Amino acid sequence: MGQGLSCVARQENALFSAVQVGDLETIEALLKREANVLNHKTAHGRHSALHIAAANGQIEILLMLLEKSSNPDVLNRLKQTPLMLAAMHGKISCVKRLIEAGANILTFDSLHGRTCLHFAAYYGHPDCLEAILSAARSSPIAVSWGFARFVNVRDARGATPLHLAARRRRPECIHTLLDHGALVCASTGEYGCPGSTPLHLAARGGSLDCIRQLLAWGADRLQRDASGRIPYVVALKHRHGACAALLNPSSLEPLIWPAPLKLISELNEEAKSLLEQALMEVNKEREKNILKGTAHSLPSPSHSESGLDDNISEASDTEVCCICFEQMCTIEVQDCGHLMCAQCTLVLCCHNKPNSATACITPPLCPFCRSTIARLVVAEIKDHDGTDCDIGNVSSSKPRKPSKSRHFSEGSSSFKSLLTVGSFRKMGDRGGAVRIAAETEWMVDKL
Ligand SMILES: [Zn+2]
Ligand SMILES: [Zn+2]
Repeated sequence: MGQGLSCVARQENALFSAVQVGDLETIEALLKREANVLNHKTAHGRHSALHIAAANGQIEILLMLLEKSSNPDVLNRLKQTPLMLAAMHGKISCVKRLIEAGANILTFDSLHGRTCLHFAAYYGHPDCLEAILSAARSSPIAVSWGFARFVNVRDARGATPLHLAARRRRPECIHTLLDHGALVCASTGEYGCPGSTPLHLAARGGSLDCIRQLLAWGADRLQRDASGRIPYVVALKHRHGACAALLNPSSLEPLIWPAPLKLISELNEEAKSLLEQALMEVNKEREKNILKGTAHSLPSPSHSESGLDDNISEASDTEVCCICFEQMCTIEVQDCGHLMCAQCTLVLCCHNKPNSATACITPPLCPFCRSTIARLVVAEIKDHDGTDCDIGNVSSSKPRKPSKSRHFSEGSSSFKSLLTVGSFRKMGDRGGAVRIAAETEWMVDKL
């Protein structure tokens, strides 16, 4: 009997190390000797071969195992599925295949009550998040649970995937989750009890990028956790000085992504990424002023786009935004066809604080002609030889993005003053936009 066991143990070891390194031959040889070997589990963690293949990204082995086994959701000692391990280790192809094989995206492990979505966020794998979320949209879970509820699924301590991404300094995951409807002010406290928000956890983690993302999405700097602390106090306590400066309720509020606006939620991907980038640039500019008074400074932006700058400076004047006279026109207002830069578009859309008016948000008006903005799209600009050149299409190779270095040069202040004023309406009151409207009619290429 004892000898039999050790023989089994030897076989198991051989199996698991073959799975780990992707040695298909050895596995098939072992299978010939004992068909049941695939049901064996590791002694300590109770991992199946499928767990080990998933965690190590051994896609060939995984496919073979899935073919031979009917259950993609076999559990280890902590009640974790192979899908959870694949998400944990960022093995995107395994994540996709397991989902295709019918793996359940809504099982909870027994350690912290976490789902595969929690693991992808915690370990920082935005591609895995995307795969799981897109599966959630088309799965019965969307019907029974509701997609929004799934994105905000809580673990045993009340943490959503967004909380974990914030705590673990994963700005890309934060972006993905917010983009799919994660609640920026979710609290770990249950039944209305105070708890920590993602901003509290980001303050603790000390990642400026995470804090920037959350603030730009409207995270509340004044929300208190179970100990009555605002995120600012948490950042101070953990000695994250630059983070604390941004979280200080008395420092200038960042520009907030105008999520509730219909024309923003219906943006196409190109226009959206242009505007998002513009938002981050505007906020970084504000941060510089906030951090000036502190001992902290931001890493200087990379100057990898000198070639791009040259292109832009050769461009004709008609492409310069007629509001700030600094940026290039990259956004077209529809239906009127007026052009402006991404930054100015954002300021225009952000002038109502989104969370102050939840019920009815009036869409902004075109600053040139005062017609209601129906859509925002990436502008098509005339190339030098007169052929149409769609900025969006060029983006597959190199996006023509608004240049940081040039347009935020120290001396140029018109856009900055605009930001301080914070509203096109006020600008219109001074007569600026209206006058520009008349003057630019001829400059705008009707498309
Ligand atoms: Zn502009
Ligand atoms: Zn217009």
